[in-house]
Parts: sequence; structure tokens; C-alpha cells
Amino acid sequence: MSIVTRFPPSPTGFMHIGNARTALFNWLFAKANGGKFVVRIEDTDRKRHSEEAVEAIIRGLEWLELDWDGEITSQYSRLERHAEVAHQLVKDGNAYYCYCSPEELDEMRTKAKTEGKATFYDRRWRDKDPSDAPKDIKPVVRIKAPLDGASTIKDNVQGKVTVNHDQLDDFIILRSDGSPTYMLSVVVDDHDMEITHIIRGDDHLNNAFRQKIIFDAMEWNVPEFAHCPLIHGPDGAKFSKRHGATSVEEYRDMGYLPEAMRNYLLRLGWGHGDDEIISTEQAIEWFNLEGIGKAAAKFDFAKLKSLNAHYIQQADNARLIELAKPFFDAEINGVAQERLMQGADELKERAKTLIQFAEEGAFYAKEIPFEYDEKAQKMLEDAADVLPALKTALEGLNDFTADSIQETCKKIADDLKEGKLGKVAMPLRAAVTGTTVSPSIFHACAILGKDEMCARIQAALNHMAKDHTIAASN
Ligand code: GLU
Repeated sequence: MSIVTRFPPSPTGFMHIGNARTALFNWLFAKANGGKFVVRIEDTDRKRHSEEAVEAIIRGLEWLELDWDGEITSQYSRLERHAEVAHQLVKDGNAYYCYCSPEELDEMRTKAKTEGKATFYDRRWRDKDPSDAPKDIKPVVRIKAPLDGASTIKDNVQGKVTVNHDQLDDFIILRSDGSPTYMLSVVVDDHDMEITHIIRGDDHLNNAFRQKIIFDAMEWNVPEFAHCPLIHGPDGAKFSKRHGATSVEEYRDMGYLPEAMRNYLLRLGWGHGDDEIISTEQAIEWFNLEGIGKAAAKFDFAKLKSLNAHYIQQADNARLIELAKPFFDAEINGVAQERLMQGADELKERAKTLIQFAEEGAFYAKEIPFEYDEKAQKMLEDAADVLPALKTALEGLNDFTADSIQETCKKIADDLKEGKLGKVAMPLRAAVTGTTVSPSIFHACAILGKDEMCARIQAALNHMAKDHTIAASN
């Protein structure tokens, strides 16, 4: 049997982290078994339908690099087929037309409530003669759920789960306007798309029993189920906006790498011994349904960040710069790109996100005159005597390397009786980067080159002189 898994999101706005994990598990299971992974957009709710939401899901999958087989299926385009199956079920005696009015249903609901029943519909049309049907009412189609006994599903995560049939009602499969309900569409599509394994959140476990009724009635194979516990926030409540970003694209925009996200989502509910860092290649080799945890996993932002730092360090420099480009204020190309390529190894060691990478590498792309942040400004004010000496010494330096720049700074520190290297290196950093945070300033200066660096020191001196003039005239 060739394995086929599916990702069938309802386009309700954005791609939720929980959905992303579901997609990843299905994708991995297909890859691990040489099977297929298909995507179906469950877009039958036309009132709430939005193309933007569909696009957000596709963007999410693309960003996570979860590729799918074949064309994306629109559930809405298959409504006729769903209705056809509903009518087939009626014809075979497995479903029936129900003509109850809203008032009748309300009455049944109230009665069931007072009697404490799990279901309310009293099946009054189940065995009625079709000739009793009122002419002016459009009926719904209801499935004939089993009346006695119980059903058991051997879920790959939850184990054996049994539900008594008194918990299952004759639910609607086709509405009076001829449109199918979720319960019917999902079964017909899963069958027609030859889905063998359904891996999804355990909020669908109850639905599995209803869906099984339709599979059985049509004498279709019931797919294997794996219902995964939902993701929780650090406080143990269901993961929601209150805990932090819930949409995949927000993580992209916060500077996370797709491979870090995949590793994190994988570990969020699936385990392989004590392994924390699991590359996608390794995950494809290892992924199985047995490794899915039975308890809800808690979203851990610190863990995600540390994984991101790991994958940033591992990433190819050119790719990293490409991914970080949206986070730079300046356009990155030409000289800035070359400098970043040389400085990337050091930036990578420090960055936990692409935002940090871009912030700390931004000085490579700056053009003089540029602004100095508050701390850098203060640093320059406190070191007015250091900069001219630095500029003269560095201008005379022939061998312009990180080591020789460091030596020169050290010498100036000694000459100025400042003693500590930092007393020279910090103002140098402020002048060259406009900030007080950067990777090794000596290496950064070597990458910038002598001309650029001396020009930046001069620009800082000009800036300070201007400040003085303004101060004096006030
Ligand atoms: N469309 C459903 C959802 O987004 C998924 C249904 C299923 O996995 O069977 O929750």
C-alpha cells in the first residue's frame, strides 16, 4: 500500500502554529515512507471564505518548505461529488431525508437537555414512509448511525478508543440547500484522494467516529488515524495569541529560519530519545507515529530561539544574507553584500534571529554621514581625544588587518595612558558602527578597509565638532 497523507486546512485567516505542525507531521510521514503528501483547502464555508487566507496557508507551507504532491484540491469544487455520495447513501438505505422544522428541532433539543441525553435528534424520519414527506419542505439528509453497541478506533497515538453508539446521533450529511456538511465532504475527499493516514489534532477525535460511520456505510477503507494532543502555552492552557505569536508568518517576520521552525515543531509533540537538534534529513529518516507524544506539548519560546541560533550558525552565508535582507534598513548589494559575506561568520556566532543578524551587521551597509545612537554619542563625547590619534595612526598603517588594527589601538591606549584597550576600541566602534554593539571591531574594521574606516572616523569627528558648535552657540 502506498502511503498518502493530507493537510486539509480551513482557510480561516492565517496559518496557525498547530496547523503547521500538523502539516509537518503529515509531510514527514509521507516522506519517511516514500508516500505522497497532498493539500486540500476545506473552503466550503463560502460566507467566511477569503482567498487571502488561502494564500496565507500556501505562503506558510512554502516558507516551511513543505512541498506537496499534485495540485492543491479545493473542497468547494467537489460539492457535486459530495452530494452524489449523500444520495447514494440514501439509495442504499444508509441515510434518509429528514423534514423536521426548526421548531421541532428546538423542542427535541430542550427535551434532550432535561433528560440529560448526549444527542438530541429523536430519529423521527429514520423509518418513516417517504410518502409521508411534506411537499413544500426541502429535506436534509441524515446518516443512519448505529443504534446499539459501540465502536472502537485503534488510534496510532491515543490507543484503543471506544465510543458507545448512544453518543452518536443521525447527523446531517447534506443540508436542505443541497450543500454537504464537513463530515461528509471530508470522508468523500479522503476516500477519493486515497488517503491512507490521517494525522491531525485530537480535537477531531470525536469526528473520527462519525466519519467512520460514513466510511463503513460506503464500504470504503477507513484510513489509519493519529490524533495528536494540541499545543499548549507555557501555562498549560491551549496555545493562543495570549501566549505570543500564533501564526507561522509572524515567526518568519521575527527572523526565524524555516529549518529551525521545522525542528522546533517536530519536537513539539514528537520525540526520538533525548535528541533535540534533528535536521530535516534526519527527521525524514526517523519519523514514525509511535514517536508522537500522548501528552500536550508546551510551547517554549526560549527553546525555539536557541534552535534558531543553532541553525543560523549552520546556515550558508549567502543564503543567510539573502534571508536577512528584509530586516536591513538599507538595500544590500554590491559593497555591502561583499562586506557582509566577509563578516557573516562572526555575525552568525552571535545572532539568535535574522533581526539580530541584520541589526548587528547593519553598519556594513551604512553610508556616511550616518546617525549615532544615544550610547554611541555618549561614547564619542567621552573620548574626544582618542579619535584624532586613532585616525592618524590607522592612516599610517600599511598592513591593514584585524591584528594590526588591534595592535595600533593598544599602542594608542598606552600612549594616552588610558591603559585599557576598551578605552580606545569602544569609541572606535561607536565611530565606525554608530552603535556600541557589534562583533569584533578590529575584524569589522579590516573588512571595511582603511579608506572607509578613516572616512568614518573623520565623519564622527565632524559630527562632534558640529555638536560643539551648536552647543557653543546655544
Ligand atoms: N479542515 C479541518 C481543520 O482545519 C481539518 C479536518 C481534518 O483534518 O479532518 O480543522
